[in-house]
Amino acid sequence: MNKQEDKKSQIAILGAGLAGLAAGHKLNEMKYEFNIYEKSNFIGGHAATHKLGDFIFDDGPHVSFTKRPEIKKFLSEAVEEEFIEHKSKVLNYWKGHWVKHPAQCFLYGLPTETIKNCLVDYVNAYKQASNSAQNYAEWCFENLGKTFSEEFVFKYTKKYWTLHAKELSTDWIGPRIYPPSPEEVIKGALEPPTTEYHYLSEFRYPTNGGFAAYLKGLNTGNSVNLNHEVVSIDIKSKLLTFANGKKSNFTNLISSLPLPELIKLLKNVPEKVKIAANQLKCSSVALISLGINRDVDWPEAHWIYFYDYEISFSRIHFPHLLSPHNSPPGTGSIQVETYYSDEMPLPENEMIDRTIKDLTQTGIIKKEDEILVSHQHNVKYANVIFDLNRAENLAIVNDYLNETGIERCGRYGDWEYHWTDDSIVSGWDAVDRLSIKLK
Ligand SMILES: Cc1cc2nc3c(=O)[nH]c(=O)nc-3n(C[C@H](O)[C@H](O)[C@H](O)COP(=O)(O)OP(=O)(O)OC[C@H]3O[C@@H](n4cnc5c(N)ncnc54)[C@H](O)[C@@H]3O)c2cc1C
Repeated sequence: MNKQEDKKSQIAILGAGLAGLAAGHKLNEMKYEFNIYEKSNFIGGHAATHKLGDFIFDDGPHVSFTKRPEIKKFLSEAVEEEFIEHKSKVLNYWKGHWVKHPAQCFLYGLPTETIKNCLVDYVNAYKQASNSAQNYAEWCFENLGKTFSEEFVFKYTKKYWTLHAKELSTDWIGPRIYPPSPEEVIKGALEPPTTEYHYLSEFRYPTNGGFAAYLKGLNTGNSVNLNHEVVSIDIKSKLLTFANGKKSNFTNLISSLPLPELIKLLKNVPEKVKIAANQLKCSSVALISLGINRDVDWPEAHWIYFYDYEISFSRIHFPHLLSPHNSPPGTGSIQVETYYSDEMPLPENEMIDRTIKDLTQTGIIKKEDEILVSHQHNVKYANVIFDLNRAENLAIVNDYLNETGIERCGRYGDWEYHWTDDSIVSGWDAVDRLSIKLK
């Protein structure tokens, strides 16, 4: 094919989440011809927003805290500057106590024995720190001390990542877990909170339409084909087959599909690659959305982390606090995340009653509240798990996929801890790599 034919040919993008749409947006700007294939009957993937009666819920808590100036500009233009800028308010719930986030800096008010043990262990760990942690548990012991790690972090880790901290690597931590200084730990144990330490100190959220309002910035022309679940990819004959019975040829492929799914769609994949792809771990999440007939007396928090195993969920947020347009006047809303995996199944398949019971136990839902709407949505791919074998398995899968010529992007196509901004940039980067090949 000459260059001109390449440019006219149909590039196929798999998945219409942020990464696939961003790739399409860029191809559109570059005047390439392409098709996007999406299995759902809506665009946005994890960045989609859904209506439940008159309530608006995202697919899990979604706020934009990007530090990238180009993405900030892009997203604010997408919603014509109609966004709300929030100062993050984040709480922790531990054994009936409400603790500001990050808890390691705000122990004031906890039982004296707990504070004493946290401080002594922290000081001992600080004196012995060698920066040689082989896993997340060791990192926590070094940076936070034994008692705080065991009472707080390990419990949350199990509930959120579904594994013990010793089964996780350290390459995802970055700014996500705050290693406090001795002054911060001691000050926070002696005085009520006065300072902010969260890496996510402020965030933006669209005024209208939920998080999905940001999707308006991604112009992909008329290229999106909804209800097109790819069920097989023939690399040799460059042919896609869909669950709806249709088939389509392509010249080049960009995939934002989860890597284990992508590998299953390909023919003649070596056994070693199949095994590695099967061993890539990801958590799933049950999202329970509730609309309630009360607009006052909610906790002072956009979101809250829960540590105790008796409470079924690890995190909740309040969509009505992100934008008042997310719930009708006089009401409030909660969305709860309960993570699960093969290693840690859901306590019950139907989680709504259990969630309401646990929220009532914490005092967040009151006995007299009326639940106006309730819904459970199970999301298969939630958080890529950084277990100790991830890097090795990922390298095997990537080496093979590089030979096929398929460009990958997105949270599950790159198999990374991508936030929305990373996913958009990864879609753009996939197009850059492809366009170099097509030159
Ligand atoms: C619970 C949760 C909370 C989050 N909160 C935040 C936050 O507050 N801020 C933030 O910046 N980021 C957040 N993220 C991350 C953010 O959601 C992702 O980075 C981003 O939305 C991923 O986009 P993507 O396009 O890479 O993947 P996806 O959105 O998963 O898109 C992949 C698409 O491929 C489609 N697909 C799958 N299989 C097939 C097939 N066989 N054929 C055709 N189509 C297929 C899917 O339907 C989907 O639409 C959160 C993620 C989760 C899970």
